[in-house]
Amino acid sequence: MKTKFLSYFLISTILLGNGMKDGVYIGTGKGYKSDIKTEVIIKNQKIEDIKVISSSDTSIISDAAFNNIKKDIIETQGLGVDMVAGATSSSNGFYRSIIEALKSSGANISELRKIKKEKVLKKEKRELNTDVLVIGGGGAGLAAASSATENGANVILVEKMSFLGGNTILAGGAYNAVDPKRQKPMNIEDSNELFYKQTFEGGDKKGNPKLVKILTDNAYSGIEWLEGKGMKFKDDVFTVLGALYPRSHKPIDPVGTGFILTYEKFLKENNVPILLDTQAKELIIENNRVVGAVVETPEEILTIKSKNGVILATGGFSKNIEYRTKYNPKLTENILSTNTPAATGDGINLSQMANANLIGMEDIQMLPLGDPKTGSLSGNIETTVEDRIFINKKGKRFVAEDERRDVMTNALLNQPDALLYVIVDSQVYPNENDKNNFNESIKELVDENRAIKADSLDELAKKLEIDPEVLIKTIKDYNLAVDKKSDEFGRKLFGKKIEKAPFYAGARIPTIHHTMGGVEINENAEVLNKNGEIIEGLFAAGEVTGGIHGTNRLGGNALADITVFGRIAGEKAANNK
Ligand code: ADP
Repeated sequence: MKTKFLSYFLISTILLGNGMKDGVYIGTGKGYKSDIKTEVIIKNQKIEDIKVISSSDTSIISDAAFNNIKKDIIETQGLGVDMVAGATSSSNGFYRSIIEALKSSGANISELRKIKKEKVLKKEKRELNTDVLVIGGGGAGLAAASSATENGANVILVEKMSFLGGNTILAGGAYNAVDPKRQKPMNIEDSNELFYKQTFEGGDKKGNPKLVKILTDNAYSGIEWLEGKGMKFKDDVFTVLGALYPRSHKPIDPVGTGFILTYEKFLKENNVPILLDTQAKELIIENNRVVGAVVETPEEILTIKSKNGVILATGGFSKNIEYRTKYNPKLTENILSTNTPAATGDGINLSQMANANLIGMEDIQMLPLGDPKTGSLSGNIETTVEDRIFINKKGKRFVAEDERRDVMTNALLNQPDALLYVIVDSQVYPNENDKNNFNESIKELVDENRAIKADSLDELAKKLEIDPEVLIKTIKDYNLAVDKKSDEFGRKLFGKKIEKAPFYAGARIPTIHHTMGGVEINENAEVLNKNGEIIEGLFAAGEVTGGIHGTNRLGGNALADITVFGRIAGEKAANNK
């Protein structure tokens, strides 16, 4: 294979000449957040090295793009490389920066683009043995792998993408837990009973009460567990969209990176193999017990035998259009989603090999706060529920903005063009460089036209093409409601008035966010079959499971769920000898 490629490369170089002159060349390309600046070193007319000089993309994700693309380009000395799935913006920006640098070296770009890495057609086979196999490297899988390791098991974790993190890393990071240490100084009265009641009733009492109780009783110890591994949370709590109450904790590290980095560090310190680009394809079932899985890498097919069991932590299925529409025909492909392309419901398919019971599959959560172009969470200018309102295109409020996510989304679907503007004032962003929950500064968002800034409400209305009188009245009425702590929509959570210029607006649309349904588990995170019996050796945690959040998951409860149940799954699997 190598000889074939080499001759192709030599022929193309000799016949057409790659044109590269030795030297160091710089190029830039637009990444996910901003420009990626890259240095390409040409020596002896070959691409010797590629170095990223600057990038502000989330490094866990973009490093996978940078490393894989660099490796392939240097190995093939060509540009016919694949972009890294789930990291397309970083991949494209990096690729463009390399092309720009190569252009200045005099390289023949169109010829280099024709040189491609050959795909491995016949994959090698290999067998690995361990105690516990974890499928999926998002928050639930990493929690499960860490917990199984702490409980003395040998663990292997497989992740189908080129990087860890799943949807967990894209989340705003909010984690609900009753926490007097942080809530008391803020005069917030709370209890596990209230947390339970809001979670259970917020899902229309469709969750399994036992699982809801485990979630709400153990969420805080999950925070302590993470802190014990070095993760840091802010001292204040806030209310994330649809959380219904101020008990959302925010990590110090941006978005979901704190969770992923904390677990990754712990697992590396404990020498737990993390196999990236490795997709689980089949469960191995012997004598009615799940004893491993067959997984595939770009080069190999591995049979991983795990004598204590397998933990499914493959996340949800928001990006699987076939599944989405099977369970809710309205959720067609033209509806955007906040999710990573990895959220295809692989775990649902795998679980069916063991006859797992599926519950709540039709309960698919939409949020009212998606980016109008991509559907993603990023770009949202709200920082906490208390300090912002939503208006429709006519400049009017239309819902209690502290409501359940499904209630707010349904209300939005009935507004003109199903589009809302989040409105905040400069008390939320006293400094232009202050950031939203997605690590973006308000200045950055305004500069990119993803947020609108105005020095008066009149000017803001004009920029949004709304009648200024209507907007001014809306804000005046809202500010009176803040004084009274009540309004016509039944809103309960009021913070600051909207009164201090400059004012900001951000457009948002409905977007698919979370699949509440999935495989049924019991209190030990053991998967149940269609007869309600435990499937020996099969555990599950996180978004792949159903039966916890009922019809509507509270905002901030997913990170608590994956931590609490990931931890339980790891412990129980480790002890399932
Ligand atoms: P959760 O919040 O439940 O942890 P995430 O979406 O954060 O869910 O993580 C799920 C992870 O599982 C993702 O990183 C995804 O790429 C991975 N995954 C999904 N299917 C497979 C599979 N078949 N094999 C390996 N990893 C998978």
